[in-house]
Amino acid sequence: MGKVVAGNWKMHHGPAAAAAFFSRFSPRTAPDAVEILFFPPVISLAAAMRTVGVPAGFGVQNIHSEKAGAFTGETSAEMAGEAGARFALIGHSERRHIFGESDAEVSAKTGAAVRAGLVPVVCVGELLGERRAGLLEEVLRRQVGAIVEPLATASRFMVAYEPVWAIGTGETATPGDAAEAHAIVRSALGELASAPILYGGSVKPGNASALMSAPDVDGVLVGGASLDPDIFARIVEAGAAAGSADPVRER
Ligand code: PEP
Repeated sequence: MGKVVAGNWKMHHGPAAAAAFFSRFSPRTAPDAVEILFFPPVISLAAAMRTVGVPAGFGVQNIHSEKAGAFTGETSAEMAGEAGARFALIGHSERRHIFGESDAEVSAKTGAAVRAGLVPVVCVGELLGERRAGLLEEVLRRQVGAIVEPLATASRFMVAYEPVWAIGTGETATPGDAAEAHAIVRSALGELASAPILYGGSVKPGNASALMSAPDVDGVLVGGASLDPDIFARIVEAGAAAGSADPVRER
């Protein structure tokens, strides 16, 4: 399995813009050289899946932990799956820090995704103040500890390490920072340590290759730079090249 290159469009690209994106998105890679994932806004999922021209997986950016109910504006894992999503982003830092999602909610959503047969892509990462206070390992172990139980029965899942200070800021963790944090996440996963761990935080064509060549970095989760089809294609191409340089991986 090669690297994973995932695009999180956040609240960008409605259905027409999603179709326009795919009319221009054509990375120069062999189809199985890299696993490409897209997380469009849920309203654009159908248009994106209809217009994509390359092999790619699709997911939603958030789910509710209940199957159905009086939860205005929410989407359940089952509904996302019925609409064609195979992946679910869970616990993104914007969900944790803008919408106040706790570790317990992230854990419940992870369990809901697993029960619905979606592949959870669970985001973890420290705030700048936590890093400066020397709390990197403690924060990562707490966040990963909260999801280990629901992930134990998952047939497949991924974790995305996204230092909050590097998301949408232009600040990037060095490949060494990423490798250090990924090793902590892998250790905290215990028996589940063979799962892919993605790095996210201001990934761009200029740093994607170095980040994906760092030890323990199995791919990238890209926000801002996934919105432009030409720029994202260059990151996908970097992923294909980094993956082909990897020793054989079973992940
Ligand atoms: C993200 O949204 O997950 C992200 C990493 O954003 P950006 O690449 O813009 O920092």
